[in-house]
Amino acid sequence: KPVLEMNNVSKTYDGSTKALQGLSLSVYRNELISIIGPSGAGKSTLLRCINRMIEPDEGSRIRFDGNEIATMNKRELREVRKHVGMVFQHYNLVYRLSALENTLHGRLGYYSTLKGALSLFSDEDVKRACELLDSLGLEDRKLFKCGNLSGGQKQRVGIARALIQDPKLILCDEPIASLDPQSSKNIMEQLKRITRDMGIPCLVNLHQVDVALAYSDRIIGMNNGEIVFEGRPEQLTEAQ
Ligand code: ADP
Ligand code: ADP
Repeated sequence: KPVLEMNNVSKTYDGSTKALQGLSLSVYRNELISIIGPSGAGKSTLLRCINRMIEPDEGSRIRFDGNEIATMNKRELREVRKHVGMVFQHYNLVYRLSALENTLHGRLGYYSTLKGALSLFSDEDVKRACELLDSLGLEDRKLFKCGNLSGGQKQRVGIARALIQDPKLILCDEPIASLDPQSSKNIMEQLKRITRDMGIPCLVNLHQVDVALAYSDRIIGMNNGEIVFEGRPEQLTEAQ
């Protein structure tokens, strides 16, 4: 049974730009799925429709963990967002706060710019945040301000913040587009580990085909708001 089932999902911006055109996609546990395609293909719109950071057009159906997202009210949606982790190209961290504080913000279910009072969180949350940062190789960076971390370290904090949500799904919007090759490799390995060892599916927008080939269980190719290819990496290699 899929964790996420998208059916006939469309998004029209400003009454004219068709960013998604009746797209359907299912995501299963233990899958790292890369979405590739040229700029403007609709990759980012697709990810953002899933938790309705962008409102899809009427008639779109998005079933997540057994519930229909597209028709949920605000309160129900907030509950869903608590279990959808997000990782961004520009990290969306609060730079004046520590890695630990930024990680804890994931507990709120959205990534706030709130004051960094650790006292807002339980000892248990703090312990869990520390464990996650340790597991991502940030044991000696927990109290560093995020503004003083390298790009790869910032993105690992972004991943820790997603993981503390106990997510049922992680959405990554160009997570390595601002990183050097070595950090990119590290981040993709972390995502792979999360999918494999924790069973959390990751949906990852990428523009590097070679990275998609190396790390994905399944690759979705998009163009003009439509899926133009779907398959395992070896099928994509054969098709070329
Ligand atoms: P990708 O992530 O693949 O680069 P996007 O989802 O960002 O693609 O964009 C898909 C299409 O929708 C593009 O034509 C883009 O210009 C348009 N678009 C994206 N966001 C908006 C917006 N907020 N308002 C109007 N058009 C938008
Ligand atoms: P990037 O360019 O790094 O991909 P954006 O600048 O497009 O990211 O930022 C995405 C927006 O989503 C930001 O305004 C951010 O505050 C907001 N946001 C971050 N996390 C969440 C979340 N979990 N749910 C809803 N909105 C969020």
